[in-house]
Amino acid sequence: MKLTRTLAAALVMTSILSVPAFAQKPGQTLIANEALSSAEPAPASFDPNSKNADVPQSIVIAANPIIAIDAGHGGSDPGGVGNGLYEKNLTLDIANRAKSYITTNYPASVVMTRSSDVDVSLASRTNIANNAGATFFVSMHINAFSDASANGLETWYYPGSTNGLNLATDVYNKLKASYTTLRGVKSADFYVLHYTNMPAALGETGFISNATDASKLNTTTFRQSLATQYSQGMHLYYWGN
Ligand SMILES: [Zn+2]
Repeated sequence: MKLTRTLAAALVMTSILSVPAFAQKPGQTLIANEALSSAEPAPASFDPNSKNADVPQSIVIAANPIIAIDAGHGGSDPGGVGNGLYEKNLTLDIANRAKSYITTNYPASVVMTRSSDVDVSLASRTNIANNAGATFFVSMHINAFSDASANGLETWYYPGSTNGLNLATDVYNKLKASYTTLRGVKSADFYVLHYTNMPAALGETGFISNATDASKLNTTTFRQSLATQYSQGMHLYYWGN
């Protein structure tokens, strides 16, 4: 579903969302409400050649990958707010559950950009992943929009990144079991996708501004399902099944 933002919608939006680097301009179709690469200066750890190299990940496969998991927002940045929920709390819970699932079930280690309700700058998030030498990076978010009927799943990758597209697609294909509205795999110049030196994907698992999506996100069983599906999507990407 594509939605066009109107001035009236924009006025409503300001009451729902509080992300400073809002990605959408009037007249554009809906894009996930996440910070673009212009939101902060490039992190010190960024290798400008990394996104161009795009070596097929299967060629450089390591026995025990390091998976970077980024719980969106946190601390003074709640992310999307709606239906009594804060995006920052949902993403942290899903991320912590995904870490637990991965480290229990797969021969992988996990590095988290945050493990509690704290502020972490965009540069710090990418520095953590880059300095850890992470094999790939997955950022977890919940969508929001001025039109409360907008709902469903989408994932994102950095434009032109084949590995990123593959990661975003594999995660999407596992997560879609939890949704009836499938919005697709899309590309955008989001900060955390741009400035990570490894394949990266960003998931928007439902809309906090939609009553049905929010009611599901408010249950631990649904968040555990998302965490498990995220993990299985990462497994599909890295191990091929
Ligand atoms: Zn977000």
